[in-house]
Amino acid sequence: NLILAIESSCDETSAAVVKNGRQVLSNIISSQIDIHKKFGGVVPEVASRNHVLNISTVVAEAMETAAVSYDDLSAVAVTYGPGLIGALLVGVSYAKAVSAAKNIPLIAVNHIHGHIAANYITHPDLEPPFVCLVASGGHSHILHVKTYTEFEILGRTRDDAAGEAFDKIARVIGLGYPGGPKVEALAKEGSIDAVTFPQVEFSDNPYDFSFSGVKTSVINYLHTKEQKQEEVNRADIAAGFQKAVVEALTKHTLRAAENMGADKLVLAGGVSANGALRASFEAAARDKQLQLFYPQPVLCTDNAAMIGCAGFYKYKSNDFADSSLNAVANLKL
Ligand code: ATP
Ligand code: MG
Ligand code: FE
Repeated sequence: NLILAIESSCDETSAAVVKNGRQVLSNIISSQIDIHKKFGGVVPEVASRNHVLNISTVVAEAMETAAVSYDDLSAVAVTYGPGLIGALLVGVSYAKAVSAAKNIPLIAVNHIHGHIAANYITHPDLEPPFVCLVASGGHSHILHVKTYTEFEILGRTRDDAAGEAFDKIARVIGLGYPGGPKVEALAKEGSIDAVTFPQVEFSDNPYDFSFSGVKTSVINYLHTKEQKQEEVNRADIAAGFQKAVVEALTKHTLRAAENMGADKLVLAGGVSANGALRASFEAAARDKQLQLFYPQPVLCTDNAAMIGCAGFYKYKSNDFADSSLNAVANLKL
């Protein structure tokens, strides 16, 4: 089985060829970070235009690197949501064209299923069921992954996603876009106990998160310091903020894993690239004797290989799309 996969939900144009679900023959990622950085974040219209400019080249490079021909392909898989509508449409239209021109099946993949599937590539023996934390730019979900294609939501953020909080804090303390890696780097120079930011618990769902309060309290802290004309240590703020987010993610996910009687714990999404998060989960998993899995760094953030892997399991269950496929910006799990 050979799947050509396409991902264009945000600011990465990516194409990959994946063999038998878990073997990555190519994974080309063209990031638009340098283009969006001067605007301080992703500008949707600019992202769509750049996907249009890049997609043919990226797909051709993926096919060339994999050294396969279109006649060898079993199917073409594409992210159809969630994401920026204009950006998604570029990938969906391209995949539909490939499917029609080469007469191969089309597979519609949920971007978040892709983030989870990244783990199957990094860990060839990993199988469901497990409890999974998806922490990315748009999601902070705790899931019970029952099978390759069935998911149950245990908890979720009630406001901002964890990655979104990293990006906003980065902007507030003047680090720019993308925020996650920059906050992580600066936090290493700070003290985690110098400034404490709040963590939120909800009595009606012990797995839910809230990250907008942390952001507000960082902003309030900065204003207070400014009014008192006191110096702020940005590294201490980064460290205190990261600690609050990492602790909440770890505590709630471990709580879910324990209550579900899970023996495997899986991390997914851009925030799972964070070293402090990984260390915190490593310690907690060791303590509770859970097996912990997370993707290799390049597969944590957006890429097409993970879409090819998730697409393979839809292929196996004969779950195909047709030419009426449309992009769905707010697609749910
Ligand atoms: P979604 O997957 O929810 O649709 P997205 O595709 O924009 O959103 P990802 O590409 O999975 O999100 O991840 C990007 C997010 O991960 C950004 O918010 C970024 O700041 C965050 N991130 C990336 N690396 C790190 C890191 N080392 N530490 C913390 N956050 C990080
Ligand atoms: Mg991105
Ligand atoms: Fe993503």
